[in-house]
Amino acid sequence: MNSKNLTTTILLAMLFGGILGGILNLFFMEISFVKDFLVGDVFHVIGKIFINLLKMLVVPLVFVSLVCGVAALGDIKKLGRLGGKALLFYLGTTALAITLALSLAVIVAPGEGFNLSSTTDQEFTAKESPSIAETIINLIPNNPIEAMAEGQMLPLIVFSILFGIAIVMAGESGRRIEQQFNDYNAIIMQIVMIVIMFAPIGVFCLIAKTFALQGFEVFKPLMSYFMVVVAALLIHALVSYSILIKLLSGLNVWRFFKKMRGVQIFAFSTASSNATIPINIENAENKLGVDNSVASFTIPLGATINMDGTAIMQGVATVFIANVYGIDLGLVDYLLVILTATLASVGTAGVPGVGLIMLAMVLNQVGLPVEGIALIIGVDRLLDMMRTAVNVTGDAAATVIIAKSEGNLDRNVYNN
Ligand code: ASP
Repeated sequence: MNSKNLTTTILLAMLFGGILGGILNLFFMEISFVKDFLVGDVFHVIGKIFINLLKMLVVPLVFVSLVCGVAALGDIKKLGRLGGKALLFYLGTTALAITLALSLAVIVAPGEGFNLSSTTDQEFTAKESPSIAETIINLIPNNPIEAMAEGQMLPLIVFSILFGIAIVMAGESGRRIEQQFNDYNAIIMQIVMIVIMFAPIGVFCLIAKTFALQGFEVFKPLMSYFMVVVAALLIHALVSYSILIKLLSGLNVWRFFKKMRGVQIFAFSTASSNATIPINIENAENKLGVDNSVASFTIPLGATINMDGTAIMQGVATVFIANVYGIDLGLVDYLLVILTATLASVGTAGVPGVGLIMLAMVLNQVGLPVEGIALIIGVDRLLDMMRTAVNVTGDAAATVIIAKSEGNLDRNVYNN
């Protein structure tokens, strides 16, 4: 199957999965065969296998691909420049995203007149979020094998970059090892291709399971919150990124979004930027024409520190919770929310549901009750899927813009 057909098949799998899941939820979840066997066993097992296949690739791919990328750059100054640009773009777009979300939420005012008793009686206890000092110290792994075994992305990125730099500095020995790493890279990319072949079935099961389990009832009292988040996500993804790509790189925006569809579906169905790293790198290199030296660096970094979609949810959630509890937020509070959510996005791991945990940090910062999170948990799974799609789109947008500015983007591949 060629890649265009495959993307269409994945899209159809997502659609049918959603429809089937919705129908099961409405009419058949009372039947134990459907609930326990079909949804609880079949969809669950196949979906989990698919996610595990993706996750299995993340650590070896990031390590090998980043080592190859840095070694191919052959120039530490260029690496520093890439890092600087990526950081600027990632923090800048996150601040923009949350500003947009806050503005929209203040205008629409979701949660005003909200009846607290009409929602779920779920409890939420906030987990400790890591302090900024701790986050900085933890950038350097105590033990690179431990960082790999535990899938800690930032320490892994730091170790891989050092390894790549050392290859450049090690002369003849370095060149021999670089050659080997290039071979490993080619092989791991082949595994990525094999996993992508399995995607239609995996996506179908994941989406069918989520929709079968997610009752539509939970949405009713939270409709205004849900809609504001979705609107802000759409505006940021379609308008902000389009303007940035056009202005900063002059590339065709339509092509970018067309080629991102497959990656967005992966992000949507797995709700994990991390699990989407292999697909995002493959897409950036093979379809968007970005050189490995840029994509292997900006995409894993983005999956770890760039969470525009998550910041949007946090902005709207803050306003929503303030409205529900009747607490007024002032300008200083809003500025604090922008700052904390931008930093929280750096500390948010690219795995399902973490955005909600980091929201506790934002709420604390402006003195809002953290229990408010319990109100929005019910609809968070679907929003998590959507915001993850936005998160990975941001990583890819930064990647093409930075690659273009560094002369590492093949226009023929991009426009093909
Ligand atoms: N699931 C999101 C991601 O992986 C993080 C979050 O917002 O919970 O990008």
